[in-house]
Amino acid sequence: MRALVVIPLLASSTVAAADDAPPKPAGPALGACTKELDARKVSYRRVQREGVANAVEVLGPLGGIAMTSPDMALVIDCSLAVSLDEAGRYLRGLGFDKATFSSAYSVRNVRGTNRPSKHSFGLAIDVHTFGGPDLGTLTIDRDYEQGLGNEVDCLGKPLTQGGAALKVLQCQLVRSGLFHLVLSPDYDDAHHDHFHLEAAPWGQRTQLRSAQPAIH
Ligand SMILES: [Zn+2]
Repeated sequence: MRALVVIPLLASSTVAAADDAPPKPAGPALGACTKELDARKVSYRRVQREGVANAVEVLGPLGGIAMTSPDMALVIDCSLAVSLDEAGRYLRGLGFDKATFSSAYSVRNVRGTNRPSKHSFGLAIDVHTFGGPDLGTLTIDRDYEQGLGNEVDCLGKPLTQGGAALKVLQCQLVRSGLFHLVLSPDYDDAHHDHFHLEAAPWGQRTQLRSAQPAIH
C-alpha cells in the first residue's frame, strides 16, 4: 500500500522538473513524420507546396503498391503517405499491387462550397483503379457495387469477384482507422468513380490509427 502513496509524489516532482524543458507540441513533431517514412523505407523527396505542412513527392511504391497517375507526380502531405504505406497491407492481401489516382495535392474547394478541400493541404487522394496480376484492373466506376452493407455488416453481398474485392477493401480502409475520411460512390454522385482517402494532419495524430475512424 505504501507504494501507492510514493508513486504520485515521484510523478509530480518529475512533472515539475519537466517544466524547465521546452514545451512539446501536442501531437508528434512534423519532422517525426518523415522519420516514419524513412523507417518504412519509402522512397520520396521533400518538396514545397503552398498550404501543405510537410509536402513530399513519393518516388516509389507505398506499402508495396505502385500508385501512379497518367499526368502527375504523387505529391502529398507526409501524413497521408504514412497512412497509404500502412494501408498497403490490405491491398496486397487482396491481390492488388498497383493503383491509379487522378488527384492528390490540388488547391480547390469542396464542390458547392467555399471551404477548401483537404486536397488543398495534400491530405487527400482520389483513387480510381486498383489492379493486380490475378484480378486485372478494377475501376471504381465500373466494378464497385453501390449500396452494399450496413453499419453492422459492412460487406453485404457483392455479386461479382471484382465488386467483392473493392467492397472488402473499402471496409478495411474505413475500419483501419488510418484515414480520417473514406468516401466511396455510396457517398454521393461526385464520388461515383473514385475512393477519396483523407488523412488527418500529422500534428493532430497521437497514434497512427484513430480509435474511431469516420465512416461515410
Ligand atoms: Zn477527393
